[in-house]
Amino acid sequence: MDKKKLIIIGGDAAGMSAASKAKRVNEDLEIIIYEKGEYISYSQCGLPYYISDVTKDKEKLVIKKPEDFEEKGIHVFTKHEVIKINEREKSVTVRNSNNNVFEEKYDILLVATGADPKVPPVKGVDLQNIFTLKTIPDAEIIKEFVKRDGIENVVLIGGGYINVELIESMILLGKKVRIIQRPKTLLNIMDEEFGQMVHEEVEKHGGMVHTEETLEEIIGKEKVEGVKTDKGEYPADLVIIAVGIQPATELLKDTSIKMLKNGAILVDGYGRTSIPDIYAAGDCASVYHIIRKEDVYIPLGTNANKQGRFTGGTIAGEVKKFPGTLGTAVVKVLDMTFGSTGISEKEAKNMNIDYGTVTVKAANHAGYYPNKKKITIKLVYEKESKILLGAQMAGEEGVAKRLDVFALAIDRKMTAEELGNIDFCYSPPFATPWDAVHIAANAVK
Ligand code: FAD
Repeated sequence: MDKKKLIIIGGDAAGMSAASKAKRVNEDLEIIIYEKGEYISYSQCGLPYYISDVTKDKEKLVIKKPEDFEEKGIHVFTKHEVIKINEREKSVTVRNSNNNVFEEKYDILLVATGADPKVPPVKGVDLQNIFTLKTIPDAEIIKEFVKRDGIENVVLIGGGYINVELIESMILLGKKVRIIQRPKTLLNIMDEEFGQMVHEEVEKHGGMVHTEETLEEIIGKEKVEGVKTDKGEYPADLVIIAVGIQPATELLKDTSIKMLKNGAILVDGYGRTSIPDIYAAGDCASVYHIIRKEDVYIPLGTNANKQGRFTGGTIAGEVKKFPGTLGTAVVKVLDMTFGSTGISEKEAKNMNIDYGTVTVKAANHAGYYPNKKKITIKLVYEKESKILLGAQMAGEEGVAKRLDVFALAIDRKMTAEELGNIDFCYSPPFATPWDAVHIAANAVK
C-alpha cells in the first residue's frame, strides 16, 4: 500500500480511537492529529466527579498522553487549531499556540471535532460566574470557583444528563442548588414517569427543581447575582448552562458536505461523508439508529469510541461497517441509577409503531438478603411479534448491568418470551431465581 497521510482534527474519543485502530491495521499510514486544546484522550464523562472531588486528580481523567501515541508513530499536535478545510486543495489550515498559521496537505481527512455547548442568547449571559462544562479546563475553573467564599446558590440551567450529574456534585459540595428547565420532566430522553422519579430523587436530597420554566435573563452587574425566568427570580452566585450541544462543524460550512439539520456531518456506517476522502466520527457526526432505522444525532462517548474505531479501520483498509446505536445510556443521580436503551414510548408513538408497554417493579436480589432494593423496568415492544424495542430502568442497585442485558436482547431482535427464559445466574446476594430481567420480559403478554 502507498504511504498515505491521514490528518485527524480533534484528539479525543473519536479521533484517538480512529488513530489507534488505523495504525494497528496499517502501520505505514502517516497519521497527524491536530487538537486545539491542551489535552487529548480525556474523559469528559468524568468531569462531574472531578468537580465534586470524588475524583481528586485531574490527571486520572487523561487516558493517554501525546507521548503514548508518538511511541506508536502517531504524531499529535496539541494547541493546534484547524481553522479551515480546503476541500479542493485537500489541505487544512492550522493555527498553533504561537499564532503561526500553516497549511498541511492530506490524502485522507477525519473530522472528529466533537460538539460545543449551546448557550441561550439571553441578556446577562456574558456576566462573570456563568459556565458550561465540556473540557478539563472548564471543570478546573468550576471546581476552583465553587470553593470560593460566598458561593452558596448554584443554578443549573437545563435538566439533561450533565446537569442531573452536576446537581449531585453540588449537593455533595453543600451548595443550595436549583435546576431550571423548559421541558416538563427532567432527563426528557426518558418517558415522563422516569423524569418524575429523577425529580423526586433530587428533591429528596434538598435540590430544587423547576420544570416548564424558561430562562429569560441573568441578573447582575459584573458577576451573576440571580436568574430571571418566566415564572420568577432566584438568587445565584454561580450558573452552569447545559441546554444541549451543537456539533462543532463550523469549519465545514463552506464545503459541499451533507449535514443533518442540526449541523451534524452525515456519515455512513464506514464514517464516509458526502465528500470523497473526508470522514467524520463522534459528536460532530450523525449515527445510524438500529431501531429507528435512520441517521440521528446521539452524542455519546459510547458511540464516539466505536464510530472512531470502525472509521479508523476503514480508512486503513479493514473495511467493516459500524452497525449503529441503540442510544444506550445510564446516569447516576444521587442514590439512584437511571438508564435507557432502544426507543422510549414517546419515540414509539412518534414513529407510529403498533407497540405495547409493560412496567414492573422487581427486586435487585433475594428479599431475605440485606439491602434489597426495588428496580423499576419499563419495556416497549412490537405488539404483534413481541419483539423488544426499548427498555428504561430506575433503581438504587443493579440497574446498569441489567440495562446492558436489555440492550443485547434488543440488538439481537429477541422477543420478550425468548429473553424471559434465558439462563441467568442466581444466588441470593445477586438476584432472585427469576431475575428482574425475566420478570419484566415475562410480563409482556
Ligand atoms: P470530543 O470529546 O468533544 O472531542 C473533540 C475534540 O476536538 C476536542 O478535544 C476539541 O478540542 C477538538 N477540536 C474541535 N475543533 C477543533 C479544531 N478546529 N481544531 C483542532 N481541534 C479541534 N457520554 C457517555 O457515553 N457517557 C457518559 O457518562 C457521558 N458523560 C458526559 C459528561 C459530560 C460532562 C460531558 C461534557 C459529556 C459526557 N458524555 C458522556 C459525552 C462524551 O463525553 C462525548 O460523546 C465524547 O467525548 C465525544 O467524543 P468526540 O471525540 O466525538 O468529541
